[in-house]
Amino acid sequence: MPEEKKYFAGLDIGGSTIKAALVDADGQSTGTFVEVKSHVKDGYEATFGQMEEALAQLAGNEGVEVSAIRGIGIDVPAPNCDGVIWTRANLAQDWVGTNVRDKFSKRSGIPAYMTNDGNAAALGEYAVRTNYDGGLMLVAPGTGLGGGLILPGGKIYEGVNGLALEVGHVSVPHREEDGKLPKCSCGWKGCSEAWVSLMALRRRLGIELAKEKWAGHPLASEDSSIEEKAFKLRDFADEDDELAIQIFQQQGQILGYVLGDLVRVFDPGMVVVGGGLAETSEKFRKRYMNWIMEGFEERGWSIYRKSPIESNKVTTLFEWATGGDHAASLGMGFVANDLFG
Ligand SMILES: [Zn+2]
Repeated sequence: MPEEKKYFAGLDIGGSTIKAALVDADGQSTGTFVEVKSHVKDGYEATFGQMEEALAQLAGNEGVEVSAIRGIGIDVPAPNCDGVIWTRANLAQDWVGTNVRDKFSKRSGIPAYMTNDGNAAALGEYAVRTNYDGGLMLVAPGTGLGGGLILPGGKIYEGVNGLALEVGHVSVPHREEDGKLPKCSCGWKGCSEAWVSLMALRRRLGIELAKEKWAGHPLASEDSSIEEKAFKLRDFADEDDELAIQIFQQQGQILGYVLGDLVRVFDPGMVVVGGGLAETSEKFRKRYMNWIMEGFEERGWSIYRKSPIESNKVTTLFEWATGGDHAASLGMGFVANDLFG
């Protein structure tokens, strides 16, 4: 009897969905992706059921048994180390302090690896760039500002406590017009995430819309929540709306400023900008990347852009994420293959 084919699964656990990918024994994507609803706020046991559902669907779509899956990579939207989650972030309280990796591994009978979502997306972006093997740093503005670092050759740098690359909580000198540092979701003030995130977008929009200057702006008179208004801001930017441009320009420049410092520390060779912004229109991305470069050039050394030795050489590449919605799950599938294959 021929030996059963082996597979490896990546499970990207988000606040509302689990995205899953299947990788074969050669470390190639099978092209099988599934998405199931997640209820992380109902506790980890409830989520385990949905993770099993995702594994069953992956196997079913590939026409194999779940037992053919020999390793799993799991990422969660919270800091964690050795399978244990440090703080709840968007999860229910019972996730904190529990070794969810080992519990799920025991329950499913499949060995598992666990990391955070920024690391997973960085791994995915590294994996899809098959012709690149330098260092890669991902920054992903979303609800917060996540990040991840892949060392040259493909190894992830997680830090001793799994807390490396918390890029959203490095401090920036930028202040609101009243001279105050904005509050961050982590409890501190003046973090980069307080400027470069969806939360920041809402705060900035609220401050701007209260000004007389924007009294005639369609969003000022619109009867909807600040969340809904912030959601529309990208479309306004695409229509060259002055307010939207001003807010995103500031965000992009501050992200570039942060990257100036981070590149100085890590010298990664490539910076990949992910998160929801990577899915925007080409016009928006082009503009936003220019704003990042403005901030980067203000703060980063010019030798991180152009080598003084080889004048044609770009020393730090800047790219948008290309892995799409499934970058993190695929990254986790690749890692599972590396570790358990
Ligand atoms: Zn913070």
